[in-house]
Formats: sequence, structure tokens, C-alpha cells
Amino acid sequence: MKIAAFIAAALIGLTAVAQPKIVAHRGHWRTAGSAQNSIASWQKADSVGVYGSEMDVWMNADGGLVVNHDQTFKGVNMVNATFNEATAVILDNGENLPSLDKYLATVAATPGDTRLVLEMKSLPSLVREDEAVAKIVDALRYYHLIDRTDIIAFSINACIAFKKALPPHVPVYYLDGDLTPKKLKALGLDGADYHYNVIYKHPEWVQQAHDLGLMVNVWTVDKIEDMKKLIDMNVDFITTNEPELLQQVLAGKK
Ligand code: MG
Repeated sequence: MKIAAFIAAALIGLTAVAQPKIVAHRGHWRTAGSAQNSIASWQKADSVGVYGSEMDVWMNADGGLVVNHDQTFKGVNMVNATFNEATAVILDNGENLPSLDKYLATVAATPGDTRLVLEMKSLPSLVREDEAVAKIVDALRYYHLIDRTDIIAFSINACIAFKKALPPHVPVYYLDGDLTPKKLKALGLDGADYHYNVIYKHPEWVQQAHDLGLMVNVWTVDKIEDMKKLIDMNVDFITTNEPELLQQVLAGKK
């Protein structure tokens, strides 16, 4: 092969490798029989073949851990309610609001390599957050999911606590969008998981992150035009409520 042709082939290869990976936001829930953060949403995300399925974890007043997005959902405040009160909530697909235990048991029972992208929700005190981090890490260990999990959080305290509690190879990404890649690196974190408007405002952060060995994820990207723009900006992960649409965009079918 001529050198120019070899270089061209290598570049095409690199471009293919650099395609962003898909994270299903709150699972794959815009589909029949599913609901945000339900057990079904994990199974449906896994069934369509994504890099990871994201979910949100709250710690209840009595120290229980449950999977849900909104702090107050169907009239129940996840921070002030007990574990039994929270898990009594019925999701739109008829499931009970899942405990973290039940959710992790489902992940552990799912063959394949779909990753769990676990968001810990910020809590009213740093002590409560540290307690939640310790319990989440224990639960991940119990289900042998340490190596199959990416951690995300808006709380920088939680991010740092996870980083201390987990083996160094487990990625911990910060969500809040106010720290440069250089600061994230200095804090020992593995990258940024920012709203896409932050990355539009600071496009240079993608290369800066990569130069520091950090990853860049963006949320929550549901429009084709944004998907294409962010693919071209070379982000590593795209978090979306429309994982199947993003698959089509990445395949050049949209
Ligand atoms: Mg989330």
C-alpha cells in the first residue's frame, strides 16, 4: 500500500473509533411498557445495544436507596420519605419505584456489557452524601458491578468521595458544568458530563479534556442537529432520551 493510502485508511479508522458512545438517559423509556428509571428502562436500553444506561439514586430519610429522578415524585419527597414510602410509588408503566437493590440485581443478571451510568443525587448535607456514597459503593461491590459502572454527580463532594472509595479505574464524571478540564484533572476526576450548551460555549474544553486524558459526555441531546454537531465536536459520549435515533444518526441513516 502506498504511504498516502495507508495514512488515509488509518485516518478513516481513527474517525470510526472516535464515534461517541450512547448513554440512554434514565434508561430507554420513550418506548412501550417503559418508564423513566424503571427496571424495564434498563432492560430496554440493554436490548437496543447502547454503551450505557443512566439512572438516578436518592437516599431516603431512613437511609434506604431508591432509583428515581425528581426529588418529589407523585407527591412523595425522596429525601424526606422512608424507603417503604418511596418504593410504594407506582411508575407510569405499573412497576413499583425500584430500590437500588432491585435495580442492581437486574443489572447483574443481564448478560453482556451494557454499562450502568449511576447518578447520585445531591443531598441536604455533606454527611448524608458521604453516607450515601459509602452505601452505593457497598451495593455495587455486593452485586459485582464495580467494573461495569460509571459514576456521575452534580455534587463535587460526592464525586471526590466516590473517587476515594472506588478503585482508581472506575470513572467518576462531574455534571455541573462550572469547572474547566484542568480543574477536574486537579481534583482527580475522570472527566466532564456537561449540558451540551456548556460545551457549545466552551468548545475548546473537548480538546483540553482529551489532552489531559479526560472524557467528555454531554446531556441531554435529543435533536438530530445537536447530535450531529456534538459528534463533529468529538465528544466521547452522548446522553439522550432517544438512543435509537442517535444510533441511526451515527450510522448515517438520518
Ligand atoms: Mg440523571
